[in-house]
Amino acid sequence: MPQHVNGCPTVEGFRALLRKHGLKATAQRMAVHEAMMVLVHASPDQVSAQIAAAGTQKVTVASVYNILSQLADFGIYRRRLSGSGKMVFDVRSGNHLHLYDRETGEFRDVVDEDLTDLVESRLRRRRFKGYSIDYVDIQFVCHPTKRKTK
Ligand SMILES: [Zn+2]
Repeated sequence: MPQHVNGCPTVEGFRALLRKHGLKATAQRMAVHEAMMVLVHASPDQVSAQIAAAGTQKVTVASVYNILSQLADFGIYRRRLSGSGKMVFDVRSGNHLHLYDRETGEFRDVVDEDLTDLVESRLRRRRFKGYSIDYVDIQFVCHPTKRKTK
């Protein structure tokens, strides 16, 4: 199993999270989560296309957007803003690092606990007057070293 799937709630885990936040496990919410389990990082358009491809539900892009936003507001998903200003939703809400491919617009999870610990220990000793840090969101903006041959 690829590393980036770690921390993604299972269908049962997702149901439990919805219950915890007083949300019903509607067919639309379940379809969105099933799409996000496949996509991991995705825009509402991509989630909507994935649901359409699965063919189990019909969910408009606007409804997908509302569901994703609500899940992010409850901390079940996380919003990620790319280096080029594109917003995607992340099925993993825990702190982790990202590689952002400028050419494809794709995010990949990076597991580097040493780096995360280093940043967090540094932040514990830093104060930003008038602010408190909610979380750290690090992305490495990059491009592929090899061009794909056609
Ligand atoms: Zn991620």
